[in-house]
Amino acid sequence: MQKPQISVVIPVYNEQENLPILLEGLVLSLDGLRKSYEVIFVDDASTDKSLNVLQELANKTTSLRIIKFQKNSGQSAAFDAGFKLAKGEIVVTLDADLQYDPGDIPKLLEKLNEYDVVCGWRKKRQDPQLKLISTKIANAVRNKLSGENIKDTGCSLKAFKRDFLVKLKMYKGMHRFLPTLLKMQGAKVCEVEVRHFPRKFGRSKYNIRNRLFKSFLDLLFVAWMKKRNLDYKAEVIK
Ligand code: UDP
Ligand code: MG
Repeated sequence: MQKPQISVVIPVYNEQENLPILLEGLVLSLDGLRKSYEVIFVDDASTDKSLNVLQELANKTTSLRIIKFQKNSGQSAAFDAGFKLAKGEIVVTLDADLQYDPGDIPKLLEKLNEYDVVCGWRKKRQDPQLKLISTKIANAVRNKLSGENIKDTGCSLKAFKRDFLVKLKMYKGMHRFLPTLLKMQGAKVCEVEVRHFPRKFGRSKYNIRNRLFKSFLDLLFVAWMKKRNLDYKAEVIK
């Protein structure tokens, strides 16, 4: 395959019903851009038929690539593997759960003229009440402790200039902190409003218990890194 201009990276864990509908929406949106693209699905060792569905879709779509994980390794690992395979100068991420609208991708890409990273902001987020409340608190704590003002760091729909991603060392859970981590590398980051829908098929892989504690430790780590980030301007004068 020739080097595409855009790479879309999508983590997949038990999303069999969502995949064909998602791909249809993606192709419609990406074809409209009149740019070459590839769609990279990273199967995080799904236990349903996701991988079979992806292989069937790949038979019909040339621009589709599949990475298969040997064991379930989490969303950050899936993004990392996708970023490493991605050939496009521009990388777009989103989830496989149909909670995002691929039709919003052009809006994100437009902003890449001015910025290095464009993050989606789910202004009207469509998740269960408990999740909305816990996320609101988590975002406030995260912003306070890490000195940020990002409205929706957890939104997977994002667009990046690839150069910033290749320098990035990912750790588990770090997909939630990409705007902060990339800002530390000098990236100009902005947020744009995107649509969000309730999950129709499959289930959310996260609950308050498995997110709260680990994410808080991750936050302390990121806040520390940000505080200790080397930040100097120097010139060699002789
Ligand atoms: N996912 C993954 N590995 C995991 C958990 C989730 O690849 O261990 C994928 C999942 O299939 C989806 C995305 O990451 O495409 C976000 O997961 P989910 O929708 O469950 O998270 P939520 O939107 O509820 O926060
Ligand atoms: Mg989701």
